[in-house]
Amino acid sequence: MRRKLVAANWKMNGSFAANAAWAVPFRAPAGCDVVVCPPFVYLGQMAGLLGGSAVELGAQNLSSEKLGAFTGEVAGEMLLDCGVRWVIVGHSERRALYGETDTVVAAKTARALALGLRPIVCVGETLEEREAGRALAVVQRQIAAVLAQASVAQLAGGALAYEPVWAIGTGRTATPQQAQEVHAAIRVQLAAADAAAAVTVRILYGGSVKPSNAQELFTQPDIDGGLIGGASLVAADFAAICVAAC
Ligand code: PEP
Repeated sequence: MRRKLVAANWKMNGSFAANAAWAVPFRAPAGCDVVVCPPFVYLGQMAGLLGGSAVELGAQNLSSEKLGAFTGEVAGEMLLDCGVRWVIVGHSERRALYGETDTVVAAKTARALALGLRPIVCVGETLEEREAGRALAVVQRQIAAVLAQASVAQLAGGALAYEPVWAIGTGRTATPQQAQEVHAAIRVQLAAADAAAAVTVRILYGGSVKPSNAQELFTQPDIDGGLIGGASLVAADFAAICVAAC
């Protein structure tokens, strides 16, 4: 039985005041794992605010490199130093806006795993790719690149997140059936590499998840929780989504 996981991706949002107002009253429901991923500059603050709670800390990105001359980058070693346990890798915004290729995403995943960080590896097709009937092929290509650098058993220490690009921040959620179809295909692909480990990998859905649609998504057999963007900025909405997962 896979324990549900719900992760908040705050993207480039937050302030010291807003983060404290979010975190101080927030209580994670028992029965599922909850991760919050604020911007890098607030990791220290959030580590303090969440310390002693059941909520774990995640980052939104990491460098594929070891410490050194990489101006503006943030190394996984530094994330560990800040109390970070999880890291989002390959979010579609990073793929589309910052040129992260499948190869870069795989290298970052490998770097996270080498350091003992738990990667949440994002995959997903654009609207154009879906309408061309290529959704599964695109996701399978993205997963294959990661599997070239990481075993299925290693990925089970983190999570995969299926996030159709057309559903992110658009209010247009994949139907539970559309999401389940892709999640099931991902699990088949993982099983081809390691059947025993494939059943232990948590596959999250992300894309306009809200309190009103979370439960229907999370009760699909291969949807093991969610990666939540916009709705995670409102503590009460994120808490309601966590409750729906538990
Ligand atoms: C995301 O950015 O990972 C995401 C799922 O965003 P949203 O929930 O706002 O669609």
